[in-house]
Amino acid sequence: MKVIKTIDSLRRDLQLRKADGHSVGFVPTMGALHEGHLSLIHQARDNHEVVVVSVFVNPLQFGEGEDFESYPRDIERDQQLCEEAGVDILFYPSVEEMYPREASVEIRVVQGVDVLCGKSRPGHFDGVATVVLKLLHMVEPNAAYFGQKDAQQVAVIKQMVQTLSMSVQIIACPTVREEDGLAKSSRNVNLNTRERELAPALYSTLIKAAELAKSGSSRTELMEYVVKNLDQLELGSIDYVDVLTYPELVASEQLSGTVIIAVAYQFSRARLIDHILVEL
Ligand code: AMP
Repeated sequence: MKVIKTIDSLRRDLQLRKADGHSVGFVPTMGALHEGHLSLIHQARDNHEVVVVSVFVNPLQFGEGEDFESYPRDIERDQQLCEEAGVDILFYPSVEEMYPREASVEIRVVQGVDVLCGKSRPGHFDGVATVVLKLLHMVEPNAAYFGQKDAQQVAVIKQMVQTLSMSVQIIACPTVREEDGLAKSSRNVNLNTRERELAPALYSTLIKAAELAKSGSSRTELMEYVVKNLDQLELGSIDYVDVLTYPELVASEQLSGTVIIAVAYQFSRARLIDHILVEL
């Protein structure tokens, strides 16, 4: 496996491999890799001759007072995991390499961001779209792999690719969870012992809410149910609870089709998100 830190050498290396007719699968990450990331890498490995993983904690997608500084970083372990997973290129650029000068153009996401994380983290998806667009230009992969865990992110990226007529295929992969149901996340290491014990309540509450949705509960009833259950945690605070159509992300009291029940919960040092999709 090659570890590459500059855009020039990434392009040079990929040019040679592409000249041999090899197809390229790309997995963009912020590092502190876990089995969720590895599931994306394995799927890319199965589908392409060349697998590129990027590790870049993107400052643009963190708002003021968010956890950019305390976001977990462990490039040596990431390198080892990528090596073991058969990655060909680990792209690990610096902030200066990615953003060397003031931008002359800004990316602003205008659809699907007035709810959920788009609403509670203003500008977050502009930062995500900017870095993903830049990375896709650098790697020019045949397909890029994203986790369904970040459901709104996948929707935003799929729409961006369509809007900008890009040829890359965007593949969404299922959420990988701990045995107790907690969605794997790099941020889980920032939970204290008590928080880690209680955090699986996010998903178990969503499962119960999904059952209630199937037995006919309204949007308001579902939201009240999730809020009441999560309030009992008394560990941190609810950032949002919402019930929307998916992938349109529209609020409707009459629930039908695919519906997303989504939560964001702020623990002392980690804000976690989770969701469940229900077919009604
Ligand atoms: P991150 O490093 O958190 O930016 O995540 C990089 C990619 O891995 C994103 O596409 C995430 O959606 C995906 N991902 C993160 N956690 C999981 C998980 N538990 N299961 C599946 N994919 C995940």
